[in-house]
Amino acid sequence: MQAVASRLTVLFTAMILTSCANQTGLDTHILMMQRLDNITASLISRTPNPRTPNQSKDLSKDIDIANIPILLKQDRKPNASTDGRAVYITSGLMNRVNDLALALIIAHELGHISLNHYCSQNPTIQLEQEADRYAVFLLARAGLDYEGAVKLSAATQAPHTSNGSYSTSEANRKANLEAKRAENFRAVIVEIEALKTSGTPLKL
Ligand SMILES: [Zn+2]
Repeated sequence: MQAVASRLTVLFTAMILTSCANQTGLDTHILMMQRLDNITASLISRTPNPRTPNQSKDLSKDIDIANIPILLKQDRKPNASTDGRAVYITSGLMNRVNDLALALIIAHELGHISLNHYCSQNPTIQLEQEADRYAVFLLARAGLDYEGAVKLSAATQAPHTSNGSYSTSEANRKANLEAKRAENFRAVIVEIEALKTSGTPLKL
């Protein structure tokens, strides 16, 4: 009898612990989703006013991207991707980068959608540079520290990459892509500074 009671105690303890673990996982998931929402809100207005006067073609693009879902994927691998309809950010990426770096990554994926890129597993340098330019402009327009974000992006893993090991040729290709992206980032910052100095609006 005592053995049965003891076994039941072990079973209940295990059930409670499992339930706590699930609850903790759920809480973490909700907190991550809230963090994603907050970062996205700092980047783009989620509640565009259709009666805003002087709506330009440029502004209508903002309204489009405001409707794109930014979704959390439970995956330890740090990655960001898009299928053209939504942006997917993994929990692994969220654990790895801060809010500013994440804003640039989200903006980059929004850039692929807004610029009608189909982002494959092997994105071309040109498409990456276009999405990066769009992303830096989006941060600048939102009043975020785009230069700081670019510096952070150099220190973190870029989107669309897996966390696996690379062959030498793959590592070289990746290093080449990152060097080209860094060069492009510097050029975009110079472009934005020139536009700001001349008082020209930053159009996407
Ligand atoms: Zn990309």
